[in-house]
Amino acid sequence: SPCIMWFRRDLRLADHPALRAAAEGGRPVVPVFIRDAVVDDMGAAPRWRLERGLEVFAEALETAGSRLVLRAGPALEVLRELVEETGADTIYWSRLYEPAARERDERVKAGLRDDGLEARSFPGHLLFEPWTVETGQGGYYKVFTPYWKAVKGRDLPAPCPKPDLTAPDRWPRSDRLADWSLGGAMNRGAAVVAEHVDAGEAAANRRFGQFVARRIDDYAGARDMLAEDGTSGMSQYLTLGEISPLTLWTRSLDASGEGAETFRKELAWREFSHHLVFHTPHITEENWREEWRDFPWNDDDRRKEVIAWKRGRTGEPVVDAAMRELFVTGRMHNRARMIVASYLCKHLLCHWRIGQKWFEECLVDWDPASNALGWQWVAGSGPDAAPYFRVFNPETQAERFDPDRAYRRRWLAEGEAQPTRTALSYFDAIPRSWRMDPGDPDPDRIVGLKEGRDRALAAYEEARS
Ligand code: FAD
Repeated sequence: SPCIMWFRRDLRLADHPALRAAAEGGRPVVPVFIRDAVVDDMGAAPRWRLERGLEVFAEALETAGSRLVLRAGPALEVLRELVEETGADTIYWSRLYEPAARERDERVKAGLRDDGLEARSFPGHLLFEPWTVETGQGGYYKVFTPYWKAVKGRDLPAPCPKPDLTAPDRWPRSDRLADWSLGGAMNRGAAVVAEHVDAGEAAANRRFGQFVARRIDDYAGARDMLAEDGTSGMSQYLTLGEISPLTLWTRSLDASGEGAETFRKELAWREFSHHLVFHTPHITEENWREEWRDFPWNDDDRRKEVIAWKRGRTGEPVVDAAMRELFVTGRMHNRARMIVASYLCKHLLCHWRIGQKWFEECLVDWDPASNALGWQWVAGSGPDAAPYFRVFNPETQAERFDPDRAYRRRWLAEGEAQPTRTALSYFDAIPRSWRMDPGDPDPDRIVGLKEGRDRALAAYEEARS
């Protein structure tokens, strides 16, 4: 009898342990994607990006002689219907680690087993399963450096090849992707964002090939420069599983040198964030450190400072440039993420959750684990966090990492005699209700840098005493 391969954040054919196991021995495989509450709860840009990913993945499956069956509803109900319709007795999937997905998967597994079916979950989303990395005392890691020491020399299997897929005799019906309108909630020019997004497994492999050939050697230094294309750009592919971390790790071993090692260390940050989400799931919603629960952060997201931050009108050029990069491309440079996060939490004393939510709404590479850890790291409330008194000075950061202003010029139009095409494209992406125009005067700073810093440090001192 056929089996069901339930795809979620693993939209690829190569190095896919669950798919490979499903297809073993030429058994017919029914690939399915389910639009359930976990999908519907995603922010606008990640859902829009998912739609693109599904479109490309469905084509790849067709080329491989298969199909992607789309169904909507609670996952357990949908899988039961599909078992009825296809006569499948086994359901395969790749594991996920964030709380919402884990709760669902446990429920689904128990339900299917009650029905006498086999439910088999596999690794593939991570290099190291979170429960396999333990400290000497047998606990989980709370600090990155020892975590990295523990994993960096580990033996890893070779990536597994693409399996041959056998089609079932009869295909169950499928919804039409367009009818789901997953991208419908993007209240911004999706066409503008689309110019910066190339979805799917083939695109991921192409881009990574270029990175290894041309840029990985310089990665250690170039990765911090705001205007440079110095990083791999793999995050949006990793989050939807269009390429596996094991493929990236293995291929990076072809390049020797500091750049390649630094790159693997960054991949390990992604692992570390999933390790923490697995062991301390509250990290996605609450201050990881209990002593931060009473910190007087402002969590009203309708304040005018928050609106200025979201719209890139704080008057702090590097912050505004970064927020516009986010809006136009659905991504933001890692250093810029740290700068805007520090500015929001410290200079504006806003709760990190406001920033976490906005990123979730806007990022095409949104990842529940990396986003939560990133925000709590900057805010100071997370594990292995930047100490609170470390307040990024946006001006100094800009001088160091954007010395010729290329990044700021790329994204800011106001006050420029000849704005760049990218800076102007921001105004095509924003909703009309924001009433912004490239000819507007330069905004004044909503908070002085020294004033904001002093206020943050004072609030911290007070909360500590
Ligand atoms: P590269 O520099 O090429 O790194 C390779 C890979 O390593 C990345 O694709 C990513 O998977 C991983 N990686 C690199 N840096 C980090 C990091 N600091 N934490 C975790 N993994 C990392 N990353 C996301 O994928 N999704 C998010 O939602 C996200 N939100 C963030 C929010 C904040 C406030 C901060 C400070 C960081 C966030 N990051 C997030 C981490 C990081 O900024 C991005 O992974 C990185 O910018 C992606 O670009 P790249 O693929 O070119 O990275």
